[in-house]
Amino acid sequence: MSYKVVKFGGSSLADANQFKKVAAIIKSDDKRRFVVPSAPGKRFSDDIKVTDMLYKCCELAGSGVDFSEDLQMIKDRYNGIISELGMDMSLDDEFATIEHELKARPAKDYAASRGEYLNGKVLAKYLGFNFVDAADVIVFNNKGVLLLDDTVKAVRERIKGLDNAVIPGFYGKTTEGFIKTFSRGGSDVTGSIIANAVRAEIYENWTDVSGFLVADPRIVDHPDVIETITYRELRELAYMGASVLHEDAIFPVRSAGIPINIRNTNAPEDAGTMIVSNDYDFSRESLGHTITGIAGKKGFSSINIEKAMMNNEHGFGMKVLKVLYDNGLSFEHMPSGIDTMSITLETAKLDPVRDKVIAELRREVEPDHIEIEDGLAILAVVGRRMKNTRGTVARVFAAMAHARINVKLIDQGSSELNVIIGVSENDLPEAIRRIYDMFINSEKQ
Ligand code: ASP
Repeated sequence: MSYKVVKFGGSSLADANQFKKVAAIIKSDDKRRFVVPSAPGKRFSDDIKVTDMLYKCCELAGSGVDFSEDLQMIKDRYNGIISELGMDMSLDDEFATIEHELKARPAKDYAASRGEYLNGKVLAKYLGFNFVDAADVIVFNNKGVLLLDDTVKAVRERIKGLDNAVIPGFYGKTTEGFIKTFSRGGSDVTGSIIANAVRAEIYENWTDVSGFLVADPRIVDHPDVIETITYRELRELAYMGASVLHEDAIFPVRSAGIPINIRNTNAPEDAGTMIVSNDYDFSRESLGHTITGIAGKKGFSSINIEKAMMNNEHGFGMKVLKVLYDNGLSFEHMPSGIDTMSITLETAKLDPVRDKVIAELRREVEPDHIEIEDGLAILAVVGRRMKNTRGTVARVFAAMAHARINVKLIDQGSSELNVIIGVSENDLPEAIRRIYDMFINSEKQ
């Protein structure tokens, strides 16, 4: 039988009512046998996540300050869930151990991991599933790097003979025996690893949105949900700031050819977004817009260099890039003309070395003119179908021209997976709205 691995985020398990929804989702499909929970998240917008409460306890413990009140607040949250679910369960011993450990060795990763650990215990009992401690199966080396092969082996070994399990997200153990967490949001990574280890047919990542949106909902009113997106497209969009999933969650499933389905615990009837590889059968899709998503990011600067006969000067580009390299700068884009070259890079990274970089470029390449333009935004229009559709770039520019938005930079990668344009930061929201209209709204008519 093939299984589905289901990961539930913090908001999906924030209180007893959410636990009930989660249980109903799991019980409605017999394939949903391996469950990865996060720690209880926010119940309302200014609530505090259990993970953050635990970090605070650890900080207090580290400074030798009494943290019993803070720990009690965490205990109250779990006890609230347990009693509202009508369960007969006590976490007293667990909390006594945590208190003792934090007093003896206030380690940040250990403290934070307890959120998932305890939630896993409660959820396993509630579902009547086996509990598998992530510390026994997720293996890191002593530098904190995940050892995927060892982990997969350990998971397979540990679940042999089990037909279900709850495995807490976010943490594992180093080969030296210390608890280690992934970076924030890391339960996504655990889910992906477990999916790989059990050779799941799908990795369902349950959260509080019905999938990835074509554009940022703070900019576009009620944007469409992306029905299907490839891993490569997702990377392009995620790099531009569109995030729902932890970046490191891609590799373990991608390498095993397992699709990810982003789903909404509060709207389980929604199909969500499928994240798939390039060989997926796309004919299953009902929609099929030319573009998959639009994302933009502010905070860029462009170093513009002009020099007559630049293109005849051997090694010009190399000298420019060497200056950037020597100053620890990486760049995003480098559009160039015959006698001009522009280098787009993050303003925050440029700022500390701005004057030094200009001085060194003056010395190295003796430009006729050099200037830095700040306040740029970069916008990526991403879509696997662009490659086989004519006129996409023309439509992007028509949308900009109609809105009287000046395009300062253009870049299209050879994969033709995206078109990048640079605009002034003030124009970014309108640029995104116009492109959305051009490709999504007008294609619906
Ligand atoms: N609980 C952890 C966090 O808040 C990990 C997770 O939720 O994925 O970052």
